[in-house]
Amino acid sequence: MVIVAEELAQRLRVRMRGTVLAEARLDRYTTFRIGGPATLLATPLDREDLKVALAFARAEGLPVHVLGGGSNTLVRDGGLRGMAIHLNALQTLDRRGEMVETAAGVRVSRLLAFCCRHGLAGLEVLSGIPGTLGGAVWGNAGAWGGSVADCLASVELVAPTGEECRVLRDAVPFRYRSSGLPAGSVIVQAGFRLAADDAAAIRRRISGYLVRRNASQPVEFRSAGSIFKNPPGDFAGRLVEQVALKGTRIGNAMISAKHGNYIVNMGGARAADVLALAALAQERVRAATGIALELEIRVVGEQ
Ligand SMILES: Cc1cc2nc3c(=O)[nH]c(=O)nc-3n(C[C@H](O)[C@H](O)[C@H](O)COP(=O)(O)OP(=O)(O)OC[C@H]3O[C@@H](n4cnc5c(N)ncnc54)[C@H](O)[C@@H]3O)c2cc1C
Repeated sequence: MVIVAEELAQRLRVRMRGTVLAEARLDRYTTFRIGGPATLLATPLDREDLKVALAFARAEGLPVHVLGGGSNTLVRDGGLRGMAIHLNALQTLDRRGEMVETAAGVRVSRLLAFCCRHGLAGLEVLSGIPGTLGGAVWGNAGAWGGSVADCLASVELVAPTGEECRVLRDAVPFRYRSSGLPAGSVIVQAGFRLAADDAAAIRRRISGYLVRRNASQPVEFRSAGSIFKNPPGDFAGRLVEQVALKGTRIGNAMISAKHGNYIVNMGGARAADVLALAALAQERVRAATGIALELEIRVVGEQ
């Protein structure tokens, strides 16, 4: 398997300008710090390089998984048979008036710092959300009643075939924690329409959100954020707390004692531990309330 992966990597390396790793450990690319290796991990330098990687994956029949900051992703212990494409080299960030154009690999924290510097308001609710703009748009990340969809103007995509298109906000079928963008398409750029505001006021709002976040969430441990989507009219964390599972441990994974909707890696946890805890919570909550909790994290790879 390792030999096949290395051969594939060498063939892709001569086509791409970015890096290509064979049997690359994906735990290093996720905030959970969990997960087996990917057959190939490609880091394209730009759009054209991305298209080369996508064409290679198609020709070789390799499933593709796009990896942003890996902060909403659980890679199973058996790893990913296929190509993970890491977009952290896509880093352009430009402003034109109150419009900001950001490449998919830009971190949410970097965009917020940029907005503060330029006195542009609208994205403050995203404060403290790790990961990239690509991941945030893909999953319509949000908090405190707001989300990425609120200020998005347009998004640029590359299809698995390499075709590019630009989609305006109103054509993106955003829902709670979902953009509904076509499966397999890669977000390469997002445009936001923001509002001019006093930089100090923006900074104060960001600090306020960060204080609330740090007080209620186990930010000191490795996790992938909320494990479950909030069911309509309720909170997954409250339901898990109600069935007395906070602090429950399987292997080295634990349902946070601070927030019932977080599973944390206490050091060396396996994906199987996390999934067993999630299944336990789903079973207990369903038995007690009839509510089926749906996973918010993206689970990829083989057992
Ligand atoms: C401590 C902590 C707190 C968090 N708090 C919040 C919160 O308040 N609200 C919230 O919504 N989330 C929260 N999260 C979850 C996570 O940070 C967000 O979902 C984030 O937007 C994911 O971005 P990412 O780049 O890390 O995505 P990844 O985990 O890398 O990817 C997530 C999904 O998006 C896809 N994807 C990523 N980039 C692209 C792209 N360019 N094109 C196409 N598909 C792409 C991936 O294939 C995958 O399906 C939290 C996570 C942590 C660890």
